[in-house]
Amino acid sequence: MMHQPKYCLFYDNHTMKAIPDVGENFNVDIFTDRVKKCGVDYLIFHARCNQGFAYYDTKIGTKHPSLKYDLFGKLSEACAKKGIALAAYFNAGISSEEGLEHREWTTLYADGRSLREPRLTPHVRTMCYNSDYRDHLIAMAKEVVSNYTVSGLMIDCLINYPCVCPICMKKMKENGIDWSNSDLIAGFSEDSAIRLAHDIAVEVRNINPDLLISNNYPPYEKLRCINNYYDVISLPATDGNEFMPVMAHYVRTLGDFPVINMT
Ligand SMILES: [Zn+2]
Repeated sequence: MMHQPKYCLFYDNHTMKAIPDVGENFNVDIFTDRVKKCGVDYLIFHARCNQGFAYYDTKIGTKHPSLKYDLFGKLSEACAKKGIALAAYFNAGISSEEGLEHREWTTLYADGRSLREPRLTPHVRTMCYNSDYRDHLIAMAKEVVSNYTVSGLMIDCLINYPCVCPICMKKMKENGIDWSNSDLIAGFSEDSAIRLAHDIAVEVRNINPDLLISNNYPPYEKLRCINNYYDVISLPATDGNEFMPVMAHYVRTLGDFPVINMT
């Protein structure tokens, strides 16, 4: 049965490669006891962060090098035991680690660069949704949903990074899109992101039809046939304090599904 989320916690957690002791003092039992005591029924926790690292035992992705055990797996066991529905957080648009390993998977920007500005951030490498990265990401989502007890999948950052790599150029030409127009390139990238969000949803629903699925990009209106609930996520430092109340009320008008406010 599909979980109806009510009180939720979301860990927007991303760990750089240099961190030497990921998960070392994390006590899953104490943590989930606390979560339960807070009255939380739905927990969103990172299976894959914006560095491209996995926090579970993966045969497809790259586990964080200093993580010595199956953190997400242990958490999913504890959550199942304590009646907490767990959702896997997946960052889908940004991946430093995989971008280093596979430079052909990254966005190629119109100025010929594959690194975006500002350079000195941990999220400087964005991904091309038409490259082989696409199959890689879908395979990781299927891996998590197949191997662990999860009630949901929260997919972050499928943003329309405008890509003019050879694969995207070929597709734009086939579709008669004027690749000299930056607005049309961004529109094509958005369509590519929507196609990827759609295909992930189809694949994971084949494994678990009751899965809650929320993408927070591309625009909410374009996700109505893919999402079956919405996480309205706001970082007040960048979005401002008005974003959350206004957007959450607006999203409720899009259809009959749970809307969660996440800050
Ligand atoms: Zn591309």
